[in-house]
Order: sequence, then C-alpha cells, then structure tokens
Amino acid sequence: MKIGVYPGSFDPFTIGHLDVLKNAAGLFDLVYVAVLNNSAKSPVFSVEERVEMINRMIESEGLKNVRSDAFGGLLVDYAKQIGAQYIIRGLRAITDFEYEFQIDAVNRHLNPEIRTVYFMASPAHSFLSSSNVREIGEMGGSIEGLVPQCNYHYLRERLARQK
Ligand code: ADP
Repeated sequence: MKIGVYPGSFDPFTIGHLDVLKNAAGLFDLVYVAVLNNSAKSPVFSVEERVEMINRMIESEGLKNVRSDAFGGLLVDYAKQIGAQYIIRGLRAITDFEYEFQIDAVNRHLNPEIRTVYFMASPAHSFLSSSNVREIGEMGGSIEGLVPQCNYHYLRERLARQK
C-alpha cells in the first residue's frame, strides 16, 4: 500500500493546500494530512482547531483515503511510524524551492528510504498562503474562496476576533 504524508503548519488550511491534497489523494492509497505541532512557530490556530478544520474539510470533500493527524519531532520518524514511504509537499515559487531543497537533503540524510514528491501550485493559487488568509481575515477582508467553504464561516469569525 502506497502511503503519503502531507505535513505542514496549515495555519489555516487553504484551497491551495486542498489542491495539493486532491492531487496526492489521486496518486496514493492513503494520505495523512499531518499538522506540525511546533510552538516555536507561534501559530494563530491551536493544533486541535487545525485538525478539526481539516477533518471537516475531508468529510465535506468526500476524501475517503485521507486522514488527519498531528505530529511533533522529526517528520521522517513520524512517517516511519505511520508506514508512509512518501512525503508530499507543494511548490509555489522559487523561494519554496530553495527551502524544500534544503529540507529534502536533511530528510534524505535522516532516512534515505523516504522520498518526497512535489506538486506545483496551480497558477490560481500561486499567491495564496496561510499568512495571506490570516492577514486578510484579521483586517476584515473577504477570505471566501481562499479556504475550504465548510470552514469559511468559522474562520471568518475566528480571525475577526483575533485582531
Ligand atoms: P510549512 O510551515 O511546513 O511550510 P504550510 O502550511 O505553509 O507549512 O505549507 C504546507 C505545504 O503546502 C508546503 O509544501 C507549501 O509549500 C505548500 N503550500 C502552501 N500553500 C500552497 C498553495 N497555495 N499551493 C500549493 N502548495 C502550497
């Protein structure tokens, strides 16, 4: 069984993330969306909130071979623990590439058996990031169409309270 893990901060999960996830779900037997539990990044949304929003999105999109989880520590250790042979990442711009290039080298050093596959962002999402969504939402702009529809109302209220 081909298992992939799509790790990220997902603070919050956007439709750019969804695009990558749908591509991965079509390629792998099982995909874990794994929320990184890293307090150093001081996320706006708690791990529980992020996992809950991702679960709602999985349900609403009918993604039968996708699960949501949270992890801490080394990604390659988590991947091994869940039996994933592949890491899934998305690429938007050159800046993503440079970062991903470094991370890939580190992960290969730690566990050469786990490979990373990349999906290019679709042009319509190449500008989209979780930080854009947070900023727009906190300033009262519309985030409709930037996040999965099932999480839109929750995120709108939550970000408006955040500022
Ligand atoms: P991280 O903090 O690990 O970069 P993110 O939640 O920002 O976590 O992103 C998770 C993954 O999704 C990364 O590989 C990132 O490049 C990718 N990604 C983020 N936004 C988009 C987008 N709009 N289109 C495609 N991939 C994206």
